[in-house]
Amino acid sequence: MLPLDPTLFGEIDPPQRLLMGPGPVNAHPRVLRAMSADLLGQFDPEMTDYMNQVMALYRPIFGTDNRWTMLIDGTARAAIEASLVSLVTAGDTVLVVNFGRFGLLLQEILARIGAVVVTVDAPWGETVPLDAIAAAIDRVGPKIVATVHGDTSTTMAQPLDGLGDLAHAAGALLYVDATATIGGMEMASDRWGADIVTGGLQKCLGGPSGSAPITISDRAADHIFARRHVEAGIKAAGMTDGAGPRIGSNYFDLAMIMDYWSEKRLNHHTEATSMLYAARECARIMLGEGLEARYARHARAGRAVTAGLRAMGLTVFGDDAYRMTNVTGVYIPEGVDGERIRTMMREAFEIEIGTAFGPLAGKIWRIGAMGYNAARHKVLITLGALEACLRREGHGLPAGAAVDAAMEAWEG
Ligand SMILES: *Cc1c(COP(=O)(O)O)cnc(C)c1O
Repeated sequence: MLPLDPTLFGEIDPPQRLLMGPGPVNAHPRVLRAMSADLLGQFDPEMTDYMNQVMALYRPIFGTDNRWTMLIDGTARAAIEASLVSLVTAGDTVLVVNFGRFGLLLQEILARIGAVVVTVDAPWGETVPLDAIAAAIDRVGPKIVATVHGDTSTTMAQPLDGLGDLAHAAGALLYVDATATIGGMEMASDRWGADIVTGGLQKCLGGPSGSAPITISDRAADHIFARRHVEAGIKAAGMTDGAGPRIGSNYFDLAMIMDYWSEKRLNHHTEATSMLYAARECARIMLGEGLEARYARHARAGRAVTAGLRAMGLTVFGDDAYRMTNVTGVYIPEGVDGERIRTMMREAFEIEIGTAFGPLAGKIWRIGAMGYNAARHKVLITLGALEACLRREGHGLPAGAAVDAAMEAWEG
């Protein structure tokens, strides 16, 4: 055997970074404390009580009365994949509302399922008008319409009011990836008419990545249970399978996961106990603050970031009317090396801001103010640091203007 590197025995002792990118962000200390609580057996009544509490706590957060509101164990992508693999069968036509990287992710997952994927697109930095989606639904006749709510890659938030009605009128179900907006921008799953909405903890909910809240309408639940195939090892007498095709993944089989979260408590995976504690604490913190206050705090933070960047003379990316409140893209000024600035921000100020993907790589930075980090002092410190780094790199700026403008915008 090769000798072990002595640094492997060092305790985990990460630097105290301020994570002001598009996620993950710093977890609320209450969430970290909840995660260190004692473990329970998965069918312990205390544990199943906690599971039921999580279901109740996440309904208002999703803006829904859906019975099936729970957690998928895994990062946000786990809930996206569980939704799509459980809704869609090979050969089904799916319409993807595509306006950024995560619209591309939906297509990639759907292609693996064998769906026929049709897209209705907007360039990065814009959203897709509702009438364009309506026309595409008419033309394509999809079984599922899939969209992202806020696409962090472009910082745009797709308006969703009316979309569920359009989908349902055409006999389709609506899936929404709300990972980047849940906890920071209004979730109105029922009003949108969304059949499945999924999230993650590591953005505006202010937790670590690794648990993905999900809500499922009764309409979608009927569709999923028609595909129920109970695992042989746990199948009891009298359990009959659905007539639909078996869901092509065991871990992400929503029918089995719903049976586990129901009073049947049919064993599937072992619920990730510490992550459930984290998700529960994220929800308690959010509901304690109040939904309106929470959304207003994110909007204030976004306003302050935008005002600060503009006061520096920088150009904010994307259509103002549809920008997410919790993450802001900004053009890297001409002649400035974006990665050098990010490195300087990290090394001199212990602050992380985001880079960008695809067509925006090297063109914009992304600055998030999400969850526990959507706080005035964190926004001001980040803007002050960015200004200092730009000035040090020889980029002329009006000194102090960003912080002044952000302080004003925070109040306004
Ligand atoms: C961040 C993000 C994800 C990320 O999923 P993870 O699996 O948690 O990394 C998915 N969708 C959107 C819209 C996001 O912003």
